[in-house]
This record gives sequence, C-alpha cells and structure tokens, in this order.
Amino acid sequence: MADTEQTPLIDRHRAVLPSWLALYYRDPIEITRAGGRRVTDSTGATYLDFFAGILTNAIGYDVPEISGAIRRQLDTGVLHTSTLYLIRQQVELAEKIAELSGIPDAKVFFTNSGTEANETALMLATQFRRSNQVLALRNSYHGRAFGTVGITGNRGWSTSSLSPVKVSHVHGGYRYRSPFGHLPDADYVAACVEDLREVLLTTTSGDVACMIVEPIQGVGGFSSPPDGLFGAFKEVLDETGILLISDEVQTGWGRTGDHFWGISAHGVTPDVMTFAKGLGNGLAIGGVVARGDVMDCFTANSISTFGGNPLATAGAKAALDYLLDNDLQGNAAKMGARLSAGLHDIAAGNPVVGDVRGKGLMLAVELVEPGTREPDPAAAVTVLEQTRAHGLLVGKGGLHNNVIRLAPPMTLTEDEVDEALDALGHAVAAVGEGE
Ligand code: PMP
Repeated sequence: MADTEQTPLIDRHRAVLPSWLALYYRDPIEITRAGGRRVTDSTGATYLDFFAGILTNAIGYDVPEISGAIRRQLDTGVLHTSTLYLIRQQVELAEKIAELSGIPDAKVFFTNSGTEANETALMLATQFRRSNQVLALRNSYHGRAFGTVGITGNRGWSTSSLSPVKVSHVHGGYRYRSPFGHLPDADYVAACVEDLREVLLTTTSGDVACMIVEPIQGVGGFSSPPDGLFGAFKEVLDETGILLISDEVQTGWGRTGDHFWGISAHGVTPDVMTFAKGLGNGLAIGGVVARGDVMDCFTANSISTFGGNPLATAGAKAALDYLLDNDLQGNAAKMGARLSAGLHDIAAGNPVVGDVRGKGLMLAVELVEPGTREPDPAAAVTVLEQTRAHGLLVGKGGLHNNVIRLAPPMTLTEDEVDEALDALGHAVAAVGEGE
C-alpha cells in the first residue's frame, strides 16, 4: 500500500486504465479545486478554464444557486431510488426543455450522457422509419457506443467498424477542407445539397431513417457550415419523410450566442434533438427531445436506471434556470464577439493560423504549416503546453488534431477574455519561434 501511494498518479493511471483513454499535456494535471471560471491543480497552480471540462461547465464552478439545489436534494436523503417512481424535478425539467425545443408536441427522455442520448435517438428514428439506414456528416462525432461510433465520421474516434447501422456520410460540416469550401455561401450550400441527393441515390436504397448533424462540429474542430445549410438539407429530407436529428450536445443552451439551439441558425426545427454536457453544469445528464409520435414509437418497455435521477435533475433544473435568468446566451454573444475579434488579430500576425471559426463561445483556430493548408498537429501541442504555462486551459481537436478549441463557461467576463487572448497570443507566437 505504502508503495502504491509513492507511485505517481500518472503511472497508476496507466497501469489500470485503458491505453486509449487520452490525457492532455506532457505532464497531465489533476484538478483538485475550482471556482468561477478557474480551476486549481494538485500542485497549487491555477488556470483560467477555456474548455470548461469539455463544455460541461456551461455556467462555471461552484455556483451557489446550483450547489444549493444539489445540497437541498442531498438533505432529503434521496440521492437516488428509482426512475420507476415519479420525480417532480424530472417532470418540471422535461416540461421546460420541451417548451424551449420548439418541437411540436415534444416529449423528453433523460439519459446520463450524450452518447446514450444519440443511441436513443438512433433507435427511435430507425424504429419509427423501420430502416437502419442513417445519413451523417463527414468529420462528425456522436459518441462512443456501438451505434454512435458507427455513424461518427472521423477515423480518430471510430474505435470499431462493426456498426449495427448502415451509414452514408455527406459533405457539409467541415468547410475549410471541403472540396466545395472555396465557393460563396449559397453555392457551397447548393453543392452540399447536390452531394446529399447523389448519396441518397447511390449509397442508400431510398428508405433512409434519419440524418444526424452537429450544427457546429465539436470534436471535429468547431467546424461551422454556413447558416441555412441544414434548412436546405431538410427540404430534401422532407421529400421522403427522413427525420432530422440535431445533436446539440455541444451547441445547445445558448453557447452559440445567436440562438439557444445551434440548429435554429439554419431556419429549421428538427424532428429530434439530443443534448448533454452543459445542462448539468458538471453533473452527468443528457437526453432526447423529440416529436411525440417519434418518441412514443416504442411499444416495449424501455427505461434508464439513472437517466433523469433526482440529484441530476435537481442540479440541471437549477442550472437551466440560471442560464435563462442571467441571459448567458446574450453574454456568450458579447464575449464571443470580443474573443473572435482578438483571435482574428492574432491570426493576422501569425501565418500558422489557417482558419478562425465558430460562433458565440464556441471558437477555434486551425493551425497549419505557414503559407499552406497542411495541418500542423505539433503546433497544436505547442499551443496547448504554452497556454498551460500561461495559466490557461484550452481544448484540442479536429480531424488532424491541429485545432485549438475555446469554449469557456458562459459567465465569462471581458477581463477574462483579454487574459486568455494574451496567453493565446504568446502561445501562437511560440509556434513561430519553434518552441
Ligand atoms: N455528441 C457530441 C456532439 C459530442 O461532442 C459528444 C461528446 N464529446 C457526444 C455526443 C458524446 O457525449 P458523451 O461523451 O457525454 O457520451
């Protein structure tokens, strides 16, 4: 025992956790405390968190309104009993999400993660349409279970090729490296619609169940198609009743600034939406909101032991109230504009930045070999290490692992935006200096 305790945590981690469980940083950090938008590690170093625990901490850390609601639930003694019984806050949260969704006659099913939410959505759509054919976007990520890995369009995250669904991938999400990326918006949309029609004709038997899209591709490097693309797709889908599923796991809850749901920028209401991450502000909760007829298409029983449990829904309800009461969507728009302007300034002086993109507080820079579009994943490692040295945590991602992702808590302040830009400016300059 004494020996184990002397062994560094990273070595113990490697000994008992899977080899494919990726960790950030050459010298990985252990977070031991957090408050506001800052986290502190086991060495006492404090960081401004611009990845918010992969977008889970939408509001920030240690928010009294949320921890108070969780504590009050703990004080009842009911951490969890069973989702076979009525749970008041689960019903209230579902009512709120159904209303916010804009989906007519909407119903909500709670899960514990985004993966489970998407698995449920796939099962609903395939059952409703009696077809296992699914359309997804190239460069997408939808989760890490059997069906969701199958539809994910990014080899780095496709841990198995033995999917139960038949998937066809279409262009659209990742414009920077799309063959149509150089076209003006309207022509780009038209080219993607043509590609969709061709895929429907050539790789499916026509009776497709659904199309699933991320309004902004999260793991794929915050790749953002022009507004309206998914509205144009929906017109094609509607010709044969193909359902549209919007995966709002990263883009939901106002993060994109201009809309509460990412898909709304496309002028369309989907048939199904999935959500997770930010809703719980750190608690494990996800779910599906869908048209009532789609949600009710199962005839056999189906339940989640923990999905919608009293603790998670008490916390999530408080988090959602906080988000709405404090107009965090409005703040995401304002702070996002300031951050985006600063990123464009950094890009102007640094040819290693090939693209600045995203919306609201979901912004990214793609790093390339100067003067080319060649992805530079080593530069992203440098930026990650350098920002850490400057007290800032950011995310990495993209098909080629060369994208720096910024998604801070939506309570962010102007001073924090400027602080982060300062750290990012130094980090990107360090790439040019070959550090
Ligand atoms: N969909 C999207 C768009 C995601 O970004 C993620 C997680 N990165 C998931 C689904 C899966 O969510 P979870 O990790 O909670 O299972």
